[in-house]
Amino acid sequence: MKVSRSGMSSLAKKFALGIDIGGTKLRVGLVSEELELVDLLITKEHRILNPESLINMVADCISQLIDRHQGIELIGAGVGYPGPINFPDGSTFSYCNLLSSEWNSIALREMIKCKIGLPTLLDNDANLAGLAEMRLGSGQNLSNVVYLTISTGIGGAIFIDRKIYRGFLGSAGEFGHMVIDIHGGECKCGNKGCFMSQASGLGLEKIIKESSSCSFLFSNQEDNDDYVKKLLDLAISGHPSALEIIQPLADQISAAFLNILHILNPEAIIVGGSLGKVFLHLFSPSINQYLKSHLPKELIDQTRILEAKLGDVNGILGGAILVFDDLERR
Ligand SMILES: [Zn+2]
Repeated sequence: MKVSRSGMSSLAKKFALGIDIGGTKLRVGLVSEELELVDLLITKEHRILNPESLINMVADCISQLIDRHQGIELIGAGVGYPGPINFPDGSTFSYCNLLSSEWNSIALREMIKCKIGLPTLLDNDANLAGLAEMRLGSGQNLSNVVYLTISTGIGGAIFIDRKIYRGFLGSAGEFGHMVIDIHGGECKCGNKGCFMSQASGLGLEKIIKESSSCSFLFSNQEDNDDYVKKLLDLAISGHPSALEIIQPLADQISAAFLNILHILNPEAIIVGGSLGKVFLHLFSPSINQYLKSHLPKELIDQTRILEAKLGDVNGILGGAILVFDDLERR
């Protein structure tokens, strides 16, 4: 992915802002009408903030970008939110992957628009990441696709004839809240055994905290506090205890993929997110084996499990694509 900080050459072009409010990082990017990511700011300090403080942080990032690229024409902002939303209203539902309780049922699109003074569109973060993959990444030549992102949480997007399917209110594609174990652990949404409560960064954090078999992770506490990363790095290197701890996740991911393929019959499931990449690397043979033995041959032989191509800037690019597409429709 090309990231440049061009100055004078930016003049006379149209630009959009892609704002990705992730479960771990806040990314604010400047994207040209050719869908080139021109500049990018990233912060990690946003997750504990309430909406007002986080929107102020977003506005500060935008001011910095405008200062660095003076004279450009900004046509709007596309914002990705880490939770289900009411798309027509631009409002949030009662839970998300941020920590403040003040995100419940607020008119977020309007709040951001008022603060930054630009036309603003709000969508689920996975919808935007998937949109970028469809336009610029692994889904470029596909029509009917499910995009799944596995990182801190699990999100998803459904594409039918290359268009995002949002459902009645706009919250379709929340595969992270698909129940795969009715006796499983509690999820942020209040239910038990959601896919996201098991096979995500949040799920692994819980396993590491509660399982005595993870004590080997704490032998060098000066290393860092990112025990999820440490566990996955050890698993990739073949550490037997690490592999044993995460092996059940392969079954959960396999079950989730099976449900998705049964219900939607997509051409492909595109898997993104930092953990998604690791899980594909570790579990692809066992997932493929499971799907082959649980689905009709005619179906599984023609269905692909693909890795996302664009990395962690796909949410920003998707936000900008939403803005440019909206401009084109007017
Ligand atoms: Zn849930």
